[in-house]
Amino acid sequence: MSGPAGRDLAYLAAIVDSSDDAIIGKTLDSTIVSWNRGAERLFGYSASEAVGRSMRILVPEDRSGEEDEIIARLRRGESVEHFETIRTRRDGARIDLSLTISPIRDEAGRIIGASHIARDITEKKRATEALRLLALVGAVLNESLDFERTLASLANILVPVIADWCAIDLANAAGDLRPIVVAHSNPARVELAAELRRRYPPDPAASRGAAEAFRTGEAQMMEEIPPGLIESSARDEEHRRLMVQLGLVSYMCVPIAVRDRVFGVLTLVSAESGRRFGPSDLNLARQIANLAASAIENSMSYREAKKAVQIRDDFLSVAGHELRTPLNTARLLVQLLGRRAREDERIRGLSEPIERIDRAIDRLADLVDELLDVSRISAGHLDLAEEDDVALDALVRDVAGRFEEEVARAGGSLELRVVSIRGCWDPRRLDQVLTNLLSNAIKYGEGRPIEIELAGSGDCAVLRIRDHGIGIAAKDRARIFERFERAVSGRNYGGLGLGLWISKKIVEAHRGTIQVESEPGRGATFIVTLPGAQVSCLEKKEAWKA
Ligand code: ADP
Repeated sequence: MSGPAGRDLAYLAAIVDSSDDAIIGKTLDSTIVSWNRGAERLFGYSASEAVGRSMRILVPEDRSGEEDEIIARLRRGESVEHFETIRTRRDGARIDLSLTISPIRDEAGRIIGASHIARDITEKKRATEALRLLALVGAVLNESLDFERTLASLANILVPVIADWCAIDLANAAGDLRPIVVAHSNPARVELAAELRRRYPPDPAASRGAAEAFRTGEAQMMEEIPPGLIESSARDEEHRRLMVQLGLVSYMCVPIAVRDRVFGVLTLVSAESGRRFGPSDLNLARQIANLAASAIENSMSYREAKKAVQIRDDFLSVAGHELRTPLNTARLLVQLLGRRAREDERIRGLSEPIERIDRAIDRLADLVDELLDVSRISAGHLDLAEEDDVALDALVRDVAGRFEEEVARAGGSLELRVVSIRGCWDPRRLDQVLTNLLSNAIKYGEGRPIEIELAGSGDCAVLRIRDHGIGIAAKDRARIFERFERAVSGRNYGGLGLGLWISKKIVEAHRGTIQVESEPGRGATFIVTLPGAQVSCLEKKEAWKA
């Protein structure tokens, strides 16, 4: 070649030759006429082997119609751009490609052939599939907190997508690896593997595979299992026969670990697919094992937290009962002393402090009861002792009467508006609800008036307890009905944050509802609705003023 045109052609040839993409020229009857180095690398045929043969040597059987379609389009002068397909290498391996095919014309404009530019998109496809798989794995692992079940589902979505076999082993309490699941898309194969495992349990001291990955916390991979390995690791002829039957090709064993805590091992094995694992497969397996490890850690923390709550509730129950007995004794003795002090002139001065001790004991007994209720309710033992004809108005008056002195001490007043309502309820438990709500109205009511209203609505009794105190911010209004939740500082107001939770449980056990309406700084109204009421029209208005 000489002159500028010759130089241009030489440049062009050099560019084509140094391209990473396969660039192939062919005639309209599919005969290969040029084959660059990229094509040699991608398809494994040298230029001298490929030139003169048909493009069809690259087309897998299941896609044999594609070449005819391509030629038809070329004859119409059309090109094909970024067509994603599969072609076969010289060694039979399938590769994912993106093909761009354009017609080549002679000087007269006639189509005489086509250029193929083929780009290997195996990695890109793998990355997209890996992302899709990881999203699926994440979803499966989040399905439940029962990790043995979740891991079984996980194994079943990994086969046959990334491996023919998937096994997951987890360490038991003694630190020994135990199988959780062995998955293969063909159940008969699973049975064969299970038999192999039963008859020849894996050796925990093995220097390869899951045992080694578990011991060292390091992933193990064998791209191609050499036949000699099966021979040398077979314990007897039968063992060898079973292993050969499985036809194992390649394996990866990846620790399922969080930080330095190894929970178990994820094993992926290829067999009938003939697939050989490589670094990108190992990377994907590691990501899957990491997701599995986080899921296991989460569900273990959940189990531990549940156990801790159980231990706390058991403790509360035992401690509550133990505290109850000496408190009852103290209360009896203090009441006895109080009576003596009132009767005996010489010690009358002690009446006041004795009464205060009595009130302190009452308060202590209430707190112990709250704790006992927590363990009862948590264990699902809130049994109602319903009575047929409970007069709710009398109950309200009764509770209000008990608080008369306390209201007076706080400098407030209590106003009652009640209608006569009867129903089938547990009077002791409803007393507890009223007591909680009223003592809160006093505690948080800043000494301002408190109103209690009992009315009927349909077959429901509706009880409203309104104070004009500190009120509750909107963000706290739902939360305060939960266990141990408070919207005030313990420094300013004593309490455990249990009263409303217990009240809610009691009301709900009666199939009723409890809600609060409030504005911060302007008080709160707690509204309890109880179904199953018979309401009489007679309305009474009663009031105490301190
Ligand atoms: P405790 O009063 O022991 O804290 P409760 O379960 O009875 O427990 O109440 C939970 C929280 O709800 C209280 O800590 C308080 O922040 C808020 N609360 C309850 N009743 C009232 C009320 N009448 N006014 C303002 N805040 C209230």
